[in-house]
Amino acid sequence: MKQFDFEEERIKQEILKLGAKRVLIQFPQGLKPEAPRIAKTIEKLGVLPIISADPCYGACDLATADAESLGADLIIHYGHSKLMKYERFPTIYVEARATLNVPSAVEKALPMLEKWNKIGLATTVQHLQTLDEAREILTRQGKIVLIGDTGRLSYPGQVIGCDYSNAVSIAKDVEAFLFIGGGQFHAIGVALSTSKPTVVADPYDNTAALVDKEAEKILKQRWAQIREAKEAKTFAVLVGLKPGQKRLEETLQLKEKLEKGGKIVHLFAINEITPEALMEFPSVDAFVNTACPRISIDDAARFMKPILTANEALVVVGKLSWEDLCKKGLLES
Ligand code: SF4
Repeated sequence: MKQFDFEEERIKQEILKLGAKRVLIQFPQGLKPEAPRIAKTIEKLGVLPIISADPCYGACDLATADAESLGADLIIHYGHSKLMKYERFPTIYVEARATLNVPSAVEKALPMLEKWNKIGLATTVQHLQTLDEAREILTRQGKIVLIGDTGRLSYPGQVIGCDYSNAVSIAKDVEAFLFIGGGQFHAIGVALSTSKPTVVADPYDNTAALVDKEAEKILKQRWAQIREAKEAKTFAVLVGLKPGQKRLEETLQLKEKLEKGGKIVHLFAINEITPEALMEFPSVDAFVNTACPRISIDDAARFMKPILTANEALVVVGKLSWEDLCKKGLLES
């Protein structure tokens, strides 16, 4: 997989520097095929590598408890930048920067951005190094380009699945966004968070597309789920057990608010939120997911019952209006 920099040399140096003897390696989906090769590189140092085969979608999901139970002394976490302020376990992040060129995809996006003059740029950690080049291409076309930096994430212009604060911070000053990255997942996140037209320039398949229709479709689905949940009597509020997804305090507050709104509420602790896990509780009419909001937003169709985000649950009990939630951004906490 030559499209990404796995930083093998840095990893080796860091392992030797830290004197680690047993290392747990975590890869996100999509990069896992590289895990056996990286593990063998590490093994040559006389260090025992153990590959985490569990799903991993973000730096919120550090395998801290697994590393502890395996007696590892280091986690190497691939594919994401640091998210949590403090880790309770020694951790090295390898961001797996993409080595792809972006100009061609950005140029394909230009006709779609034609009617707007002020453009916001956003991307994931894999493509941050391409922002300057993209900015240059846009500037040559006479565009004014803005890149947001709230300091909440590791880099200016960066977005992650559940944090678009950098894009949101410049939304009022731009007319549209250009997102650089693969697929539509993050680009839709930008559109849902900023309510601005959003074009994705995808360097993997060298295409560009406007994602507004997809974002619009999701908004309609979310409103339908909220309406269904308003009729629900019994709720389960899910508290995530992954280190960066655990929001127990928020869960308790939501329970109280839903109960005041006349609902019967249970608390469920959960690691992996799947339709199969939730189907075991047929007496629950609706779920509120305080863990990873993207499961609610992107996977709703896989679940038999409404699975709301925390903010959507507030709409159900009248503590937040749908219009204000849309204004605030569907993914804003
Ligand atoms: S909570 Fe979900 S969207 Fe946010 S970083 Fe974790 S996996 Fe990604």
